[in-house]
Amino acid sequence: MYKYKLINEHASSDKYGKCEICNKYVDNIYYQIEYKKYKLGYFINNELWGHKDCLIKLRKKVNHVKEFSLSL
Ligand SMILES: [Zn+2]
Repeated sequence: MYKYKLINEHASSDKYGKCEICNKYVDNIYYQIEYKKYKLGYFINNELWGHKDCLIKLRKKVNHVKEFSLSL
């Protein structure tokens, strides 16, 4: 089980470096934190800077799992 937090850094690659996914320049860079659920709660599993779209695409596909558990 994963949870994500997306933060608009209001800055470009000049400050944070290129997108860590596609390695291209970013005008408006985002910071994404991936949390993984353990017995004691959610802990940071991964952190990335890059384009908003690149970060969202990289998220693990957990939607179908969530829907399945809701229907139980
Ligand atoms: Zn990118």
